[in-house]
Amino acid sequence: MGKPKGKTPSLISMSTSKPAVHTCGRATECDRCGDNVATSAACFQIPKMKNGFTKKPIFCLTCTASIIAQTKIDLETLEATLTLYL
Ligand SMILES: [Zn+2]
Repeated sequence: MGKPKGKTPSLISMSTSKPAVHTCGRATECDRCGDNVATSAACFQIPKMKNGFTKKPIFCLTCTASIIAQTKIDLETLEATLTLYL
């Protein structure tokens, strides 16, 4: 796979809606690592807002897994912070 650049995004900050399983009608580039996801291969579509428009870029399974892992870390951090105030 290609080299994803920068910090792994988390769903908390990047997405406006839930990721959905998707199969590509034609080979499509993963929005994060730039690898091609082959026609009819499984990937995830993660909606995000850009310039007021909802985009639906796709992510290969490896990148989706790292985004979900990062989301867990962010959620746990948020939870821990919240606990301080409850
Ligand atoms: Zn990828």
